[in-house]
Amino acid sequence: MRFTLLLIVGLITTQTFAQKTNSVKATDTKPKLVVGIVVDQMRWDYVNKFKPFFKTQNGFLKLMNQGASCNNNLIPYLPTVTACGHTAVYTGSTPAIHGITGNSWYDNIQQRMVYCVEDNSVQAVGIENSSAGKMSPLNVWTTTIGDELKLATNFKSKVFGVSLKDRGAIIPAGHSADGAFWYDSKSGNFISSTYYGKSLPTWLTNYNNAKKVDSFYKLGWSLSLPANVYEANCDTDQNEYESIPFGKDAKGFPYGLNQFIGKDYGKVANTPYGNNLVLDVATQTIINEKMGLDDITDLLAVSFSSPDYIGHAFGPNSWETLDGYIKLDELLAQFFTTLDQQVGKDNYTVFLTADHAVAPIPGYAQKHKIPAGTITDDGIKNELGKMLTAKGLNPKLISAITEFNIYFNHNLMDSLQVTQDKLTSLITNYLEQKSNIIQVVESRKAAIAPLPQSIRERIVNGFNPQRSGDLMFITKSGVVGGGNTGTGHGVFYNYDAHIPLLFYGKGIKKGQVNNVNYMTDIAPTITTLLGIQMPSGSIGKPILEVIQ
Ligand SMILES: [Zn+2]
Repeated sequence: MRFTLLLIVGLITTQTFAQKTNSVKATDTKPKLVVGIVVDQMRWDYVNKFKPFFKTQNGFLKLMNQGASCNNNLIPYLPTVTACGHTAVYTGSTPAIHGITGNSWYDNIQQRMVYCVEDNSVQAVGIENSSAGKMSPLNVWTTTIGDELKLATNFKSKVFGVSLKDRGAIIPAGHSADGAFWYDSKSGNFISSTYYGKSLPTWLTNYNNAKKVDSFYKLGWSLSLPANVYEANCDTDQNEYESIPFGKDAKGFPYGLNQFIGKDYGKVANTPYGNNLVLDVATQTIINEKMGLDDITDLLAVSFSSPDYIGHAFGPNSWETLDGYIKLDELLAQFFTTLDQQVGKDNYTVFLTADHAVAPIPGYAQKHKIPAGTITDDGIKNELGKMLTAKGLNPKLISAITEFNIYFNHNLMDSLQVTQDKLTSLITNYLEQKSNIIQVVESRKAAIAPLPQSIRERIVNGFNPQRSGDLMFITKSGVVGGGNTGTGHGVFYNYDAHIPLLFYGKGIKKGQVNNVNYMTDIAPTITTLLGIQMPSGSIGKPILEVIQ
């Protein structure tokens, strides 16, 4: 009886409380617009390292000095690559639950490689019959911040995603988004898919028709500061271990880009102008889609992908990377000015993070006696194929090797009567003798692998039976997937897994947070700030220190 009474009182209290707190509308504490910014491949240490060279107080420094900075934000799963990063930021979850185990993965059910945002049931919009437009968030299994915002507002919130990369626009925008726009390197247009609607908004078609990319090519890429600044703070400008995205005759500054006008619209991604294009479309989305104007909170997810292309080619210690960030900083300042004018100074909240960071170029590290090396999936697959053949076994027993995962061909194993244990021990014994591999882990048994707990946990968080391999190899520190030029990312080492996390604006408490947080904490922090449900698969904790 007493219990029933308490229950009734409890129900009444909850109901009254629910009536008082209206989570749908922007209020005194809730922003009219949330802007999520993911800088592709941004390392945490860039913020401090590049600080002296920023030309304005209103870009990165505005977020750092007037907002909250989480200085030890880590990625809690493997692999640390773009698709997984964007998904973790916006779902608060990991590949085990949200399903995005890589940019591409070998699908154990379909028995083929699958691209993270591929969707053959939809068509390109903004360009005819292009495979670049057959994309949607179909492969993401859980809800995103945007989805929860939509659910909380009877789908009245506006939610858009913008990026050069399809996956950088589509995944952050979520399942129920109003639109996602990404760059098609063939046409030089921002495109979309029929998943979102039948045609592009007129304002975007007009933007595409202006072919801004050609006008950027005309300008070429020259340094923002005198050369001696780069000389004093970076590696030498030209190195054998850098890639040559602009051709073999275009090494070092200034880079002429005229030769690409009307011919190669992909090259812009390797220049800071890729960020200009994204900024243009993000700004136009806010203005033309009338975002952040009423009391219903909207979400814009922006991802700057060019830092990733530049970083892969030239590395984190290059002139190109430093100059790219000086220029991005100025673009951010412009963007925040637009937000102040369009939405109002105290009406929006920004978070800025990265999808992953990056290793130094192995050649650069070795030059300075830092441990480093390279490894390739194809190389490992070849070697294992030879090893199996030498033992009288079919090399096709291995279906695929990608993102440090080795996928077994279970049908062939059955018909040839090769057991899981036998194949596992052959491969493990072989790979554990290699100089740049520490150990091979059986994915399903990762929870008891002889590794530090935090690393075991990241393997478990990244494991998904349908989309992960049977084995995973753990490389030594500094070992990068790829060839002799450029660099990469994908592992748990801090150069890949330590990313910036800055919050600024409405509802954010200014300050420094130095305890360890995780990428999966971003989504629950934002949903707590908005007073809405966490994304369905979120495993993170709200970072209470940053909420007012
Ligand atoms: Zn990358």
